Amino acid sequence: MNTVVLATRNRHKILEIKTILADLPITILTLGDVSGVPDLREDGATFQENSLQKAREVHVHTKLPALADDSGLEVFYLNGRPGVVSARYAGEGTTDERNNKKLLGEMLGVPPRRRKAQFRAVITLVRGNSVEVAEGICPGVLAESPRGTNGFGYDPIFIPDGFSRTYAELTAEEKNRISHRAKALSKMKEILKRGV
Ligand code: IMP
Repeated sequence: MNTVVLATRNRHKILEIKTILADLPITILTLGDVSGVPDLREDGATFQENSLQKAREVHVHTKLPALADDSGLEVFYLNGRPGVVSARYAGEGTTDERNNKKLLGEMLGVPPRRRKAQFRAVITLVRGNSVEVAEGICPGVLAESPRGTNGFGYDPIFIPDGFSRTYAELTAEEKNRISHRAKALSKMKEILKRGV
């Protein structure tokens, strides 16, 4: 049986990735299943850099194929912020609520037509000397205030195109059909199907 290790400690990402990849004949391990992996650095300037850095670090320490997700929200009105610093937009060690509050504060009074945003996910697979990268984007708009309790991060304030509900008001099945992560993973699935 083939095995990959997910290079993330985010339990929401782990659940989404495991659900989306559930139909593949591979065993998916998390960092809790392996030992000796240090804290993963995320100090790159791009999603690609961070994603590669995390997958490479886990591969080096486990010798197993490693799959990393680096992702975030890009708001056009804010020239792409929060982008790579999505997780810590309101400061190091902050909460999702504070990040959402900060972002909505910066968007206060900005009309609907200028609230376009997109989620981006870059998924990287590192095994031996080989590196495979897949990217997914989900376009949408920022809500005026948080709605819904599902998911994590900026889910309560992001309305994907084609919906009137936020990501946090979608069911897990709905989000996993259209999300940035689902789109990147559906490309990565084709690579994983060829064997890890
Ligand atoms: P990373 O661990 O550096 O990739 O951080 C990703 C951050 O982007 C998360 O902490 C969230 O704030 C945000 N993010 C990424 N994907 C999602 C998502 O699917 N929903 C909501 N927020 C997300």
